[in-house]
Amino acid sequence: MPSSLLEAFLDHARRTPERPLLTFEGEAYTYGALAGRVADFARGLRQLGLQRGERVALFLENSASFAIAYLGVQQAGGVVVLVNTAYRQVELAHILSDSEVRACVTGASGAAELAPLREQLPSLQWLITVEPPTAALPASLTVVPFQDLLARGAADSSPLELPRPEELAVLGYTSGTTGRSKGAMLLHRNLLANVRAVTEAWRWTEADRLLLALPLFHTHGLMVGLHGTLYTGASVDLRRKFVAQEALEALRDDASLTMFFGVPTMYGRLLEETRRTGVKPRRLRLWVSGSAPLSPQLLGDIEAEFGARILERYGMTETIMNTTNPYDGERRPGTVGFPYPGQEARVVDVRTRKPLDRGETGEIEVRGPHVFAGYWRRPDATAESFDPEGWFRTGDLGEYDADGYLRITGRARELIISGGFNVYPREVEEVLATHPGVAEVAVLGLPDADFGEQVVAVVVPPAGAPAPDAQVLVDWCKDRLASFKKPRRVVFVDALPRNALGKVQKHLLRDRLVGPGD
Ligand code: ATP
Ligand code: MG
Repeated sequence: MPSSLLEAFLDHARRTPERPLLTFEGEAYTYGALAGRVADFARGLRQLGLQRGERVALFLENSASFAIAYLGVQQAGGVVVLVNTAYRQVELAHILSDSEVRACVTGASGAAELAPLREQLPSLQWLITVEPPTAALPASLTVVPFQDLLARGAADSSPLELPRPEELAVLGYTSGTTGRSKGAMLLHRNLLANVRAVTEAWRWTEADRLLLALPLFHTHGLMVGLHGTLYTGASVDLRRKFVAQEALEALRDDASLTMFFGVPTMYGRLLEETRRTGVKPRRLRLWVSGSAPLSPQLLGDIEAEFGARILERYGMTETIMNTTNPYDGERRPGTVGFPYPGQEARVVDVRTRKPLDRGETGEIEVRGPHVFAGYWRRPDATAESFDPEGWFRTGDLGEYDADGYLRITGRARELIISGGFNVYPREVEEVLATHPGVAEVAVLGLPDADFGEQVVAVVVPPAGAPAPDAQVLVDWCKDRLASFKKPRRVVFVDALPRNALGKVQKHLLRDRLVGPGD
């Protein structure tokens, strides 16, 4: 029985070194070949002087180098810090200084982004570059080309120690959808427990091959896509990024693919592309959606076009995967199914924290071996997030239906309390989204002298179409929902602010609408 995901991967590499593991832009790695590079990387880091428990940031696009660096840092006893590649100086300075990284693995544009931050990052010593930097870098930073690090490591044959289950493996920074991102401390045993649960629930085996175009800096791509592959001894067709046309062609042409994982916006683009070109995917064993709500409409459209029923699941940086629709049995639209084997999820009253019955909405709490060890250097945030029995407060609202399927109804922080009544933005958004004059919508609560908060709808009209009349949209809601839920204000915009995963950043909308000093 392996004691970490890394060990499970190394076991496969030892037993079946010739088995294919990963392809990326013309490169192909077997388990044995990747494990060799990973050990070289780990020894290279040790030669530089990296100590156990020290942090190494990956500010890197999807590539084979990402996988090598990710596992190599772990084999060196280091802690991986995941950084979204869309981040620029403000976010980078926050994450790299918060985590006190000693090294950062990056490309030319990443190095250029980092150069001006030198003063703010005194702990940063080595820049491990996958391509030659083009920007001038401060002399106090040591640039180590990725290949040189591997070569240094290859010249060393001293033994490497496996990480212990209780050691920190990854600092996963949350997406910053509701505010500044926080570093979630994931231990080796958290990674192992969750990947075991996920692969068991989805019947993932070594016969599987995944098309993976999700970013590896995020839970969905890394801790579901890559981890599941490494744990089961399966293989992955890794892409630098998601391009609908390329993904669709691969899904049509490559008979070895058995699985595809995506966020809802990817499924929307695949559907558009199929409708535009007539190209359809082959049958796959499993299509998975997560990271944001998958609308029942999109699920139905995909089923009609591809003959495939997407399996929707629910997860987060702090806990990796929480719940999933069943592999066998009904996959219920608009729900995220049941807890994974060996894990628990319940719904509690937001005020009393008492568990609620099926059909009642409250905050989702989870417990189990997958739950992280707390927020990095944020004892306050950690204490607020756990109750004495170890339940983690997810910050998500939800309810169980009569059959025990969990439905996410929004974020606890985004709940609007207007005139003493609870308004769930997602419910109002779903109603507005059915109006033909609405392409995208976000509903939020803004301060109101009379009601405490007022319901505000921010609407993007369809491309090229004029904005509908605001009153028409208000009436549309009034005809379909209790009157206290109708928007008191409708604002039209060209686009909603979204983070790199396509999630709407309501706090930015709120700042924009309320204005400074209000
Ligand atoms: P932050 O915590 O910094 O505000 P974030 O919560 O968006 O950002 P992540 O950890 O990347 O950061 O995302 C986890 C969240 O994504 C969950 O808490 C949930 O709100 C949402 N989510 C994940 N899967 C689903 C799903 N299937 N349906 C609805 N929401 C989902
Ligand atoms: Mg969160």
